[in-house]
Amino acid sequence: MTRRPLAWIDEELQTLDQLELRRRLRTHAGPQTAEIAIDGQSLINFGGNDYLGLAADPRIAAAATAAIQTEGWGSGASPLVTGHGQSHAALEAAVAQLEGAEAALLFSSGFAANVGAITALASKGDVIFSDAKNHASIIDGVRLSGARPQIYQHLDIDHLEKLIAQAAPFRRRLIVTDSLFSMDGDFAPLVELTELAAQYDAMLLVDEAHATGVFGEQGRGVCEQLGVEDQVDVRVGTFSKALGGHGGFVVGSQSLIDWLLNRARSYIFSTAAPMASAAAMVTALQIVRDEPQRRQLLLERATKLRNDLRSQGWQVGGESQIIPIRLGEPEPTMQASLRLREQGLFVPGIRPPSVPSGESLLRISLSFAHTVEHLEQLVSALDQLRDQRRI
Ligand code: PMP
Repeated sequence: MTRRPLAWIDEELQTLDQLELRRRLRTHAGPQTAEIAIDGQSLINFGGNDYLGLAADPRIAAAATAAIQTEGWGSGASPLVTGHGQSHAALEAAVAQLEGAEAALLFSSGFAANVGAITALASKGDVIFSDAKNHASIIDGVRLSGARPQIYQHLDIDHLEKLIAQAAPFRRRLIVTDSLFSMDGDFAPLVELTELAAQYDAMLLVDEAHATGVFGEQGRGVCEQLGVEDQVDVRVGTFSKALGGHGGFVVGSQSLIDWLLNRARSYIFSTAAPMASAAAMVTALQIVRDEPQRRQLLLERATKLRNDLRSQGWQVGGESQIIPIRLGEPEPTMQASLRLREQGLFVPGIRPPSVPSGESLLRISLSFAHTVEHLEQLVSALDQLRDQRRI
């Protein structure tokens, strides 16, 4: 008999098909901009995280090209061996400066930054308090750390306080949260979290992945916007969203960064990014600093769009450039996404496991690169869809 040890996978995939939960990769041609071509169809792109419209910015591409000429492409090694090049050092300095932090450390992704930082800060004998809707990379960091996980209800400070108050015997306490939640587009109560962290002598890690470059006067994120940067011990960010590139980072005190450099396994045992990628991100940070109008316009448009959609009768959440339309079940969500696609609009349907069961949604992600016409088309297509659904 033929050996088929992976046959169970086909059965599981069939189950995913039946539940409308199977994901498939799409390939787009050309750069990531407000209009993309997927499978030969040109679509207005409301599915990316390129919030400031920098992914295809020619100044950033030029910085990468110039760095390739001088530093080549591959980094060749992990940072602690021989992989840490001049552009990496320049980017660390630029990130620390923009973030107003003592020091910064680069990771190969935001995912790696969360996993590396959390596992370096907490282990067996410690306890981690984590918001129920934190990103998968935080969840995995918590699981890997060996610390006791305590999951508090989304944004629920009272629940968190109850859990912390009961957690006295643990050696160290760590609170972790996204600042801007990636699916719901809502904010963590950071002021209250910093107060609780102080009261219970807990470390506080905030993941600013979706807020870096978008919120705060200097574009540092929600911690800056709420004036709590000094009370947040560990700030995680990513270059992969508003900065239009790739890679993650952690900022904080010099000793924090020295500790991560010695203990964060996803940093130590992973090859450094190409130097040109780091050089590109130095330019992206300059643009964030010099062109605040990008984030201002983006947020103005997001507010207008939320209002327009609410007045059409949609259940719209969030307070940011991430605008969820809550539809509940996967099937109507994927149908709505398909209908919009037929109208030339790419708006991804988000379903479990990215969101809890019963919380499927259309996730509209706005970018500075969208034109007023793009937004008008979206509003008009959603208006038609709502009529058809008789909402
Ligand atoms: N944190 C959050 C909140 C995210 O949404 C993401 C990516 N979706 C990450 C971290 C991981 O960042 P990266 O894509 O750079 O790995």
